[in-house]
Amino acid sequence: MSAPVDNLMMDYPLTITQFFERSRRLWAKKVLSTRVPGQPLFRYTYADFAARTQRLAGGLTALGMRRGDRVATLAWNSHRHLELYWAIPLMGGVLHTLNFRLAPRDLTYIVNHARDTIVFCDASTWPVLDTIRKDCPSIRTIVVMKDTPEAPVPPGALEYESLLASATPAAAWPQLAETQAAAMCYTSGTTGNPKGVVYTHRAIYLHCLAESMTDTMALSERDVILHIVPMFHANAWCVPFAAVMLGATQIFGGPNPQPRDIAGIVQAEKVTFVGAVPTVWIAVKELVEKEGYDISSIRMIPSGGSAVPPSLMDVFEKKFGASMMHAWGMTEMTPLGTISRLKSYMRDLPDAEQLAIRAKQGYAAAGVDLRVADEHGREAPWDGTTMGEIQVRGPWILKSYYDAPESADRFTPDGWFRTGDLATIDAEGYIQITDRTKDVIKSGGEFMSSVALESLIMGHPDVLEAAVIAVPHPKWIERPLACVVPKAEAKGRLTEGDIIEFLRPQVAKWMLPDEVVFIDAVPKTGVGKFDKKVLRERYKGWQAKDG
Ligand code: AMP
Repeated sequence: MSAPVDNLMMDYPLTITQFFERSRRLWAKKVLSTRVPGQPLFRYTYADFAARTQRLAGGLTALGMRRGDRVATLAWNSHRHLELYWAIPLMGGVLHTLNFRLAPRDLTYIVNHARDTIVFCDASTWPVLDTIRKDCPSIRTIVVMKDTPEAPVPPGALEYESLLASATPAAAWPQLAETQAAAMCYTSGTTGNPKGVVYTHRAIYLHCLAESMTDTMALSERDVILHIVPMFHANAWCVPFAAVMLGATQIFGGPNPQPRDIAGIVQAEKVTFVGAVPTVWIAVKELVEKEGYDISSIRMIPSGGSAVPPSLMDVFEKKFGASMMHAWGMTEMTPLGTISRLKSYMRDLPDAEQLAIRAKQGYAAAGVDLRVADEHGREAPWDGTTMGEIQVRGPWILKSYYDAPESADRFTPDGWFRTGDLATIDAEGYIQITDRTKDVIKSGGEFMSSVALESLIMGHPDVLEAAVIAVPHPKWIERPLACVVPKAEAKGRLTEGDIIEFLRPQVAKWMLPDEVVFIDAVPKTGVGKFDKKVLRERYKGWQAKDG
């Protein structure tokens, strides 16, 4: 009988401890910085970062954090937030990033549901915590980080720098299992209560590797990364974890960064990589066009969270020399699912065809199983037209929400997660999101993509933003209503007829919106996406024209 051949590799746990220790040794001289309003960037080295993270870890032990305890952050992007990103999970705690833009009711629900014990909050976000803390009995300690130097520390709270100064640095990291919880995020909760997603060390570890691959984001030590995606939104797309693993230069956007801050930092620091949702890029585009910043150092802008209008990608690429790449994912997926890169043999296609492919959400990242399926789990053909729900599975996709048995129906009997996103998939495997299930417009017997219409309308040179929602119709059940924000210089001049005539050659007749309303701004969610729920509420009683 021959000797067994299976399982002869080490059972080495995939924990982020490995990344941290390697990073500390290799990248000690590399620099991390944070924007401080009205001052030059605050800068320190990876060696400083590692030493402070170790002190913070000691401080967490002194505060009584035990394995599995949820430790919350309510903070802007900063080097301190990065220290928490690492120290909490390295010590076996669970980093729970809170979105301070949520309604107090939702935030209270989330803190109570997660049973957060310690909260690290910025001085500038303290008023939010102050409003809810009396209703959150699990919070026993609050630590305030002075994100603006003159900020006072509220009575009863500890101060972050004092905590570090008095802490004994952790002598060693605990041995952790790869399945242990490292971090946690709640979904925005557009329907029902927010739901918690808990990331294991293993999920983050594997996601960091996949995200850095050349055919996904090609992240490397050579990158200068500006963090604008909020660190409370799906781990800032996991980039703060991957960037430390790689030793990239990192700049944190600080409190409430505006388009001028983003463009200014990109120009001054020669940023190569900066992600954000499309609404941020719409605003940056306006500014760069008007004031002429040089942002051509950017090699990649990953954008997602909602569909990126192709016209926006085109301007960044052709006018600003900054390549924008469409990515799709969700909190439930750590978050990367797909990325839209051209395949090598597509590089010779005419420009317009290349743009049309890149405007899709792309193909599945290595490690993600993805299918577009009907309600019975039957896969849609790869024809680019049949619509179905995106379903996914893989090592960084949730198996279950945290303590939410009522959401078992989000999983299929054969083990796929139902994303709730509707899409088509083409012959090359590129998905195109047509809508969230709840946003799709059902006109007559046909489904119409509100996302497709919005993207086209935002290609009009006088339009800043556009969102399309369904309004009831006596004959067609639903019809599209286009809510359009004109650019400042086109206010009062741009008409409904202009929008319709612009769309007419681009869409089927039945897809033309019956009506266009002009609004001052599209309402945004806490993470900067279009909040169509608010628009639907606003136009609840609206009756579409009998067209
Ligand atoms: P969140 O968990 O807050 O990141 O939201 C995830 C949802 O955002 C997805 O289920 C999609 O509906 C939407 N989304 C994310 N990326 C894209 C994208 N590139 N295009 C269109 N929708 C997107």
